[in-house]
Amino acid sequence: MPFRLLICYAHPDDESFGLGGLISKYVASGVEVYYLCATNGDVGTVSPELLNGYASVAELRLAELAAASKLLGFKTVYTLGYKDSGMMGSEFNQDPASLWYAGQHKPAEIVRHVVEAIRDCKPHVVLTFNKYGGYGHPDHIAIQRATTEAFDKAADPAYVTGHEPWRAQRLYYSSIAKWAVQIGVWRARLMGKDPRKMGRNADIDIQAILDHVEPVHARVDIREWFEAWDKASACHVSQLSGGFRIVPKWARPVLTPYQFFTRVHPAPSRDRIDENDLFENVTAEA
Ligand SMILES: [Zn+2]
Repeated sequence: MPFRLLICYAHPDDESFGLGGLISKYVASGVEVYYLCATNGDVGTVSPELLNGYASVAELRLAELAAASKLLGFKTVYTLGYKDSGMMGSEFNQDPASLWYAGQHKPAEIVRHVVEAIRDCKPHVVLTFNKYGGYGHPDHIAIQRATTEAFDKAADPAYVTGHEPWRAQRLYYSSIAKWAVQIGVWRARLMGKDPRKMGRNADIDIQAILDHVEPVHARVDIREWFEAWDKASACHVSQLSGGFRIVPKWARPVLTPYQFFTRVHPAPSRDRIDENDLFENVTAEA
């Protein structure tokens, strides 16, 4: 029986920009990979000419996700259809249809959606953002909280949905090497920029990213998958000017040969890298 991986992220592009190499590697090795995308990404900034032929930003971004999914080879994509909440403090945080608002006012609703996805695809491994949502995005934080809670609830027979309970064996948060973020902070200062106000909209705080990095327990070699990573990312044309590609292509084999993960369940006895694969200690039969 193949291994199954469920990734619970927030936006159409998180899967490709964040994990395009890792997903391609696992799909090629026979792992069934599923994507739960909690929002439609409808607050993302989009140049008007890209909207030709689409009724809305949401429609465009979901079409980009469909193209990326085809390349990546997801078995199923679950879309929850919440509205993008924008960055922390934006007016969109208060839109009742947004994921952040739902997380603040009716968190059980998001948890239920994630439990239903877990029970439907029966993953051995579940992956979501870290507690800071990678770079502080409210949607990332909301899906991290819901997924962490849903991981246990999915296994609880007392929590009733249309599906049978399912106990996934592992829960990971995506992480990053602390030294790589530290270089980013130094680089920003050297260039005369404020590391707390980076990115196109000056709303990315690299110092806070550094302060919130959680311990790394697993690292996966993705050196052979940079091209697949780029191809999937290229599907999200409307988001490519966002400055997410901080590491230049030539430097990637040196700076980002691995993808790092924090193991949340089962809790590690100490903080060190003791796994080179997310399925290293997983049994496929379960
Ligand atoms: Zn995102």
